[in-house]
Amino acid sequence: MIHPLPLADSPPPTDDRQHLLDWSPEMLVDWLAEQGQRSFRGKQIWHWIFRQRVTEFSAMSDLPAGLREALETQFVIYRGTVSREENSPDGTEKLLIRLADGGEIECVLLRDGVRRSICVSSQVGCAMGCVFCASGLDGVDRNLTRGEILEQMLRLQGHLPATERLSHIVMMGMGEPLANLDRVLGALDVARSPAGLGISPRRITISTVGLPVAIDRLAKHQVPFNLAVSLHAPNEALRSRLVPINRKVGLAPVMEAADRYFAASGRRLTFEYVLLGDLNDTPACARQLAGLMRGRPVLVNVIPYNPVAGLPYQTPSAARIAEFRAILEGAGVNVQFRQRKGSEIDAACGQLRRNRQAAG
Ligand code: SAH
Repeated sequence: MIHPLPLADSPPPTDDRQHLLDWSPEMLVDWLAEQGQRSFRGKQIWHWIFRQRVTEFSAMSDLPAGLREALETQFVIYRGTVSREENSPDGTEKLLIRLADGGEIECVLLRDGVRRSICVSSQVGCAMGCVFCASGLDGVDRNLTRGEILEQMLRLQGHLPATERLSHIVMMGMGEPLANLDRVLGALDVARSPAGLGISPRRITISTVGLPVAIDRLAKHQVPFNLAVSLHAPNEALRSRLVPINRKVGLAPVMEAADRYFAASGRRLTFEYVLLGDLNDTPACARQLAGLMRGRPVLVNVIPYNPVAGLPYQTPSAARIAEFRAILEGAGVNVQFRQRKGSEIDAACGQLRRNRQAAG
């Protein structure tokens, strides 16, 4: 059952104030110095935004009134607006955010036991072209800024009661995070920082279609995040069909880059595998996948296809899924089969935006 809420928020800002979340703490301190303010004010401002969840400068009660006014004149905290909210009875909440230039992105809050996970977008649209995915059907419009990535996290945090905190972040919303790596890392470094959201990097996962050069760059980042590679096929021909970017990249280079990431980070790798009926769900595929995973320290996350309106793919039958699972487990692969939470509110990436576009 879907529980659409009324359209929320005021229209996007039409002014040209800066998005404060695009600014680094150092930039803010420089600006504060220009205003004749001490640097500790910067820490106070971030604390209000990330920990006290304040969305207006006027609420920052321990700042001098003149500084609050100067901030108000120069900056906005949120630059987009929530154009739609949906929640489902399992506690999943999804936001469609309309950006200042009219682009739309999605982000999701998932509640699972004590976990409070969020799924965040990195681009408007996606250029990778995975044939079963709603996000890339119209290609990519642009990269998100660091502030637009952080704004998603803050807005979702704002949906939690004050007694609860975000525990996990996955970069699994719209877009290819490794195609916008600098801004994604800029946002995630704030998310993990104690002065930001304070989420351990062990609880932050970047999901990628598998871009080897960018994976190597990520491996050099000072703090290792978890890496998930969207594999979806155990051989070259099938992967090139389902994940078209594979024609340029190739399966072996993706696996080798993933191995190098493990060697550099020590973090167990995750491979995602969306099961598409009669395409990549056969016993032969399961055996080939088990062979590819042999000797690698991995978790294989198998996700039954979540139907996208207008696309011809099928969710496999329960019997097919069980057989696929039995073969992998029989081969000793560390595997997780998960039904996507929130599927009833189109919580698979790109679907809410798509349905809204279709509805005009
Ligand atoms: N571009 C990145 C992250 C975004 S997609 C990546 O490819 O990993 C996040 C995950 O959702 C990917 O594994 C993707 O393949 C999967 N996904 C996309 N559309 C889906 C659908 N209709 N059903 C199930 N999973 C889907």
